Amino acid sequence: MAPDAPSAAELETNPVVQAAFAAAWADSLADDQALRHEEGGFIYYDPTTGDITVRRAMPGGMLYLNLDSPPTVPGSYLVATHHTHAFPAALGHDPSPSSDDFEEADGSGVPWFVVTELGVLVVGPDRRVGGLTGPPGYPIKGGAAMSATVMTPTVTRQQAILIAEADAVPLFGNDLNVLTLEAALHDDGWHVEYHMRRPRWAGGGPHYVIDADTGVIKSKKYYQ
Ligand SMILES: [Zn+2]
Repeated sequence: MAPDAPSAAELETNPVVQAAFAAAWADSLADDQALRHEEGGFIYYDPTTGDITVRRAMPGGMLYLNLDSPPTVPGSYLVATHHTHAFPAALGHDPSPSSDDFEEADGSGVPWFVVTELGVLVVGPDRRVGGLTGPPGYPIKGGAAMSATVMTPTVTRQQAILIAEADAVPLFGNDLNVLTLEAALHDDGWHVEYHMRRPRWAGGGPHYVIDADTGVIKSKKYYQ
């Protein structure tokens, strides 16, 4: 049996980890209305030496941080991630972990620390699942083929939604109102998708891929 990874509670009290939390928080510029953004990265454990190593991810945006590609640290396993939530509660923002944080942490197989003005919170498993074995990065393989390129498209998000709605509304009308509209920029363009997000409701709706430079609908599927 593979040795256990350190638990989230053990990691949280480690001085290297605490210093990383403090540095990520400082770099998030939480007090700067124009520049505040998410920072964070990856926490590793070397089972031979017991060393904890931290690697930073590229700085994120106001509302996100890309944690999908932990670099390899020779001899070490990824045992946690961390990221900051820089918007203050005083401005009406909720610093607690998002539902996406919960889902992604559970799906990644390592604890995710969220560094906030209220302190450090943790979501996901109590420790790296499966112990110190297998791939050195995330122990659970991520979902494929939905890589999102962060860039400035010619077609804005709002325009992409209007293009999709110009097709969908004449066909489905008010039925679209029970569906959730999701729009995200991917490598192949805007994905504008209507999803049934109501528990125990069957349903689905149209999914579009819209060229981010020309606004042309590259593909559409009418789910139901
Ligand atoms: Zn988050």
